[in-house]
Amino acid sequence: MSRYELYAPRYPLLPLKNVVIFPRNVVTLLVGRPRSIQAVEEALLRDRRLIVTAHQDVERDEPRPDDFYRIGTLASIVSMDRQQGGNIQVVLEGLNRVKIDQFDQSRPFFTVAAAQLEEAPGHPDQDRVLIAHVQDLATKHAEARTKLSAEVVEMVGRATEPGHLADLLATQLVTDVARRQELLEMTDGTRRLEQVAVHIAGDLDLAALEQRIKARVRDQIDKNQREYFLREQLKAIHDELGGENGNEIETLRQRITDRGMPAAVTEKMIKEVNRLERMPPVSAESTVVRGYLETMLALPWTERDEDRLDLDEAEAILNADHFGLEPVKERILDFLAVRRLTANAGRSQSSQILCLVGPPGVGKTSLGRSVATAMGRQFVRVSLGGVRDEAEIRGHRRTYIGALPGRIVSAMKQAGTINPVLLLDEIDKLANDYRGDPTAAMLEVLDPEQHAGFTDHYLDVPYDLSQVMFITTANFMQQIPAPLKDRMEIIELSGYTEDEKIAIGQRYLLPRQVEAHGLGEGALSIPDALWPRVVREYTREAGVRGLEREIATLCRKVARDVVRGKTSTDDGTVILDETRLETYLGPKKYGFSQDLDDSQVGLALGLGVTSVGGEILPVEVATMPGTGGLTITGKAGDVMQESARAAMSYARSRAEQLHIDPHFQQKIDLHIHLPEGATPKDGPSAGITMATAVISALTKRPVRNDTAMTGEITLRGRVLPIGGLKDKALAAHRHGVRRIIAPIDNQGDFAKIPANIQREVEFIWVRNMDQVIAAAILLDEVQVESLEEIAGPLPVVASTPPAPVPAPAESYPADLASDADRA
Ligand code: ADP
Repeated sequence: MSRYELYAPRYPLLPLKNVVIFPRNVVTLLVGRPRSIQAVEEALLRDRRLIVTAHQDVERDEPRPDDFYRIGTLASIVSMDRQQGGNIQVVLEGLNRVKIDQFDQSRPFFTVAAAQLEEAPGHPDQDRVLIAHVQDLATKHAEARTKLSAEVVEMVGRATEPGHLADLLATQLVTDVARRQELLEMTDGTRRLEQVAVHIAGDLDLAALEQRIKARVRDQIDKNQREYFLREQLKAIHDELGGENGNEIETLRQRITDRGMPAAVTEKMIKEVNRLERMPPVSAESTVVRGYLETMLALPWTERDEDRLDLDEAEAILNADHFGLEPVKERILDFLAVRRLTANAGRSQSSQILCLVGPPGVGKTSLGRSVATAMGRQFVRVSLGGVRDEAEIRGHRRTYIGALPGRIVSAMKQAGTINPVLLLDEIDKLANDYRGDPTAAMLEVLDPEQHAGFTDHYLDVPYDLSQVMFITTANFMQQIPAPLKDRMEIIELSGYTEDEKIAIGQRYLLPRQVEAHGLGEGALSIPDALWPRVVREYTREAGVRGLEREIATLCRKVARDVVRGKTSTDDGTVILDETRLETYLGPKKYGFSQDLDDSQVGLALGLGVTSVGGEILPVEVATMPGTGGLTITGKAGDVMQESARAAMSYARSRAEQLHIDPHFQQKIDLHIHLPEGATPKDGPSAGITMATAVISALTKRPVRNDTAMTGEITLRGRVLPIGGLKDKALAAHRHGVRRIIAPIDNQGDFAKIPANIQREVEFIWVRNMDQVIAAAILLDEVQVESLEEIAGPLPVVASTPPAPVPAPAESYPADLASDADRA
């Protein structure tokens, strides 16, 4: 109490809500309560001074003495204005801190006795440093915030008293009432200033934080705005150039995200869309990108058919679509059963690949289709014939104009599911040259280790082929690239016999074609007796494609007659007869034995297997005066040329026995010709045919025209086994040949030959060339005898059952020729 001025005059009290006034602080207040107005009026009547203090309970309208803070401010009224509505506006200036001691409530307003509070003595050194620090803070604050006016900053700069500076800054910067009251109650100026310094520093930190947040927000907004702005501009540009690019881009983005592709693929495609967006919509490049995106979207990524693998049903489907082929159907069913088991065991599904090998038109493709139907999957055929370029399998990079995906990916697009049956047709016709090796690409397709991530150059992302079931077909097993062959389960189909063809025609091809041509069931009936004519006279093939074509022709013609009302019966059916057959199909194309002319000198009938199945391959030999030259024409391969030389050597070694001039080579030239020059022929199996033709030409004895032959020849005249005897026998039979000379080592194949051919054709099994000559050439007796002299008796081994193998002829030394290239 000692520091207080003991003298305690009385002043009117102006209670303030939420306001704390510091000394030297000028404040404008609006006063409305009548009691407060009276207090002001009282002060004006006296020395214009009054005491202001805040009351703590701001809720209460009529505060009681206990509600007031005891420390307040003595203030003087600078001016007073009466306002409309009875309020007054007063301007007060704070003078001093006071402590209220006593309340007098005898008047309508409070009168209080108060003592002025003295400032505590300062600490000069500390204060100077403190003031400088606070001045610095205040300057910063003025920069960071706009609360301090230039005038105040100037005042701060001039301050020398810590207490005054504290009050000045507290007035300006401290807004919280409780905090202000605390500062008002502090009489130590240094401490007050310290508190204010803490407050300002805190405020500056806050300001910095706010600044950072603001900056971040602004950055974000800037970026968004920038993008938005650019996009809008782009849209405007595109609109100007015509086209609804913007719309299209959005749709594309949506379609890509909805497509369910692997994440990496989606990401890549979105990148492409972004690229597309930046391109002019009509540029060549944008067409390329658009084409790419559409291709990707059209590919199956998740669509699949549920596997159903009911073996009974599969068998029924195979039987419904195909006649005969029992062993083939059995193998396919076995294959499907194994697949079923491995699939159940969760093992890779397509580790096994079926390969159907056989001549055209024997039903390879349609078997593949039936397998797909049986499994409830989509079926797509991919033709590989003549594919030389790796890019045809793997596609071209998009950098090339007009680039397309490869055949595999195109097939997937066509299938529309990720687990179709893909029939890779004619895999043996894959060729490789300087444009890369399609076999390598094919290997990747078929390799279970790799096909989960098949890369097509066009797609440029891995595409999963692991759910696909691959079936391949080939005409020749020998020509399937070895690495591919290793991965496949080979099933061989051979050509059909005439009886089989007729059965297929009657039961399958005719009903199918009748339906396909919109004719009613039974609209065309072909009497049993006419079927052999249709098959023999209008087709010559291993399979039934030609037959199907002829039947289609018949149906077309019948359709015309039905429309014109020229049917055989009144109920609109056509019964084929001899005349109708010829008017419909024209004159016969093939005679049953038409090309078996009379027996001729220098013409022997060979048997070969070409891409269309077994065929008769005649060999012609002409002699002319010369000096031992040998010409071979008719697209003979290397192996054939070697066979021709072996045939010549054999002829020389038998010159004496056959009564040929031993020096014939010095006097004549030989010309060997293989007619049907367009078909390339190779393989060693024409060896004995060439030798026979050569010897026929040299001996001037004709070769029997009812006899065809096949067999490899060695230099010493041994006959080595060949392949494809069944197909060859079918072809021979087709052409009306009634005797076949074949190597004795092929006797084992006899069982595979259809029974009717076994019955109708005589098989002569030979071990050496002498036996061939004896069986094929119409020699005179002297010649036969002299052949027998060196070769022993010449057995003509007839057909069933395979005869015991004759003992090897003594006069044939161990063979020197290689067996490696045997068919
Ligand atoms: P490939 O693929 O072997 O060249 P395709 O499958 O194209 O032969 O067959 C040609 C036509 O012959 C098809 O219409 C097919 O249905 C029919 N075909 C072939 N073999 C038979 C058969 N055993 N039974 C019924 N139709 C057959």
